[in-house]
Amino acid sequence: MTDKISNILKGLFQKYPDAKTALKFSNPLELVIATILSAQATDKKVNEVTERLFKKYKCLDDFLKTDLKTLEEDIKEINYYRNKAKMIYQCCHQIKERFNSKVPDVMEELTSLSGIGRKTANVILGSGFGKPAIAVDTHVIRVANRLGLVNTEDPVKIELELMEIIPKEKWTAFSLSTILHGRETCKSRKPLCEQCMLSSNCQYSKYKS
Ligand code: SF4
Repeated sequence: MTDKISNILKGLFQKYPDAKTALKFSNPLELVIATILSAQATDKKVNEVTERLFKKYKCLDDFLKTDLKTLEEDIKEINYYRNKAKMIYQCCHQIKERFNSKVPDVMEELTSLSGIGRKTANVILGSGFGKPAIAVDTHVIRVANRLGLVNTEDPVKIELELMEIIPKEKWTAFSLSTILHGRETCKSRKPLCEQCMLSSNCQYSKYKS
């Protein structure tokens, strides 16, 4: 690990020692449902909806017993609720049929489920199962490029390149703390470089000054 990476990780972990996903869940299935709902919706809105949803649907069987129309009605406050209800419905049936009613904890199996792409799968692996995983969202794309850790907007390339340079046991914490850093400090339009603990290791900040 280079000094630059080491300093960046130190700065991120000092500032965000308990970084975790903003989505509320109490088991991997709930995280699957919440992440499907979270596409183009705020975490706050998703948490409002899932607070009620998870009281009604307590386990996989509850989702399997319902019909699509009822599920649509139960999540209708969320953007694209019809499509998301369909994804959740299909995903739950696939979990039962293909994975013996257990949410899988392997990338290829997760991404074979309806509504779950690579980023979502990494959120589930990292936060739901405690496995090393780098979820690359818009914040990670922006911050990693500005820091000069990568030089591409392609999320899959970014994930693979970061996996090469960051120690495996730190992947999840890096991803979660970088998301927070992107939200709070390294903002899209006006990054707050003057108050950023990473500025001395940041390519964008050096170029700017
Ligand atoms: S120094 Fe500025 S551009 Fe670099 S990570 Fe910090 S806020 Fe972002």
